[in-house]
Amino acid sequence: PTPSQPIGRFAPSPTGELHLGSLTTALASFCHIKSLGGQWLLRIEDTDIERCDQQFTEQILIDLEALGLHWDGDIIYQSERIDIYNDYLNSALHSLTYGCQCSRKGLEQYWAKEEQSQIHNENQPNRKRYPRCCVAADLDRQQHKLRIQLPDYKIGFNDGIQGMQWDNPQQTLGDMVARRQDGMINYILAASLDDGLQQVTHIMRGLDILPMTTAQISIMNAAHLPAIDHWYHLPLICNPDGQKLSKQNLAQPIDTRNTSQLIAHALKLLQQPVVDRDTPENMLKQAIAQWDNTPLQNQQQLNLPNL
Ligand code: GLU
Repeated sequence: PTPSQPIGRFAPSPTGELHLGSLTTALASFCHIKSLGGQWLLRIEDTDIERCDQQFTEQILIDLEALGLHWDGDIIYQSERIDIYNDYLNSALHSLTYGCQCSRKGLEQYWAKEEQSQIHNENQPNRKRYPRCCVAADLDRQQHKLRIQLPDYKIGFNDGIQGMQWDNPQQTLGDMVARRQDGMINYILAASLDDGLQQVTHIMRGLDILPMTTAQISIMNAAHLPAIDHWYHLPLICNPDGQKLSKQNLAQPIDTRNTSQLIAHALKLLQQPVVDRDTPENMLKQAIAQWDNTPLQNQQQLNLPNL
């Protein structure tokens, strides 16, 4: 890439096949970055070995190819990059991270007690934040899970779809687990480091990740990685009843036997101008030429029509 070339990416977790929700994220980030003359990278976020499956990865690649969503450069697999994340945890992020021996169960009991002893107030910051019992304990980093201290001040970023956002990551998320005791790396930590290392300039992804964005900004900053210039959090695709499409609620995998119908459907959901039925590549060419974020502005969810 030339220094000024925009770089976007699609970063699926292969915990299931693509569904209409993840497909619209792929399609939107592809068309948007291509409309800016940029590159579209593909990163497989497969650090969670319990939930990820090689078969899903293969199916995602087949589906993207079938839909004409051709990525630039080599695919990055996060499962092959664990050493890189650990190097960061041991160097640039070392002073922000600490070992923690609190069990999930112990924390749940602590929060339950807190809940009882306080009058419920909707405006309270997230009460299920880690109470930082181990912050000064200097526990062995290899033997325990590692937490990362997130800044306790408001961080702002301008989202190209959702508008100006402000959040204090310490109040919202608390000191997140950066690496589990079994070595598993937190997904937003891995994504932050890779977005920086891949020199991504434009991130377009689902609104479900927006609460993690100020954490990502602080991690990238602490790791001395270049900041993301442009953020876009897409409205979530929901069922007619308003429930988010997700693997958890068993969203139907996409059926790529009729690719042009699928692309037309996804573009309509994304409120883009109609394109002529053609090969996927030609439909995408048209969609890129007509791409417009404005209809998505300030939208938090897009409901599928009742069939
Ligand atoms: N891997 C995440 C997911 O599939 C996306 C993370 C991101 O786009 O930053 O939900």
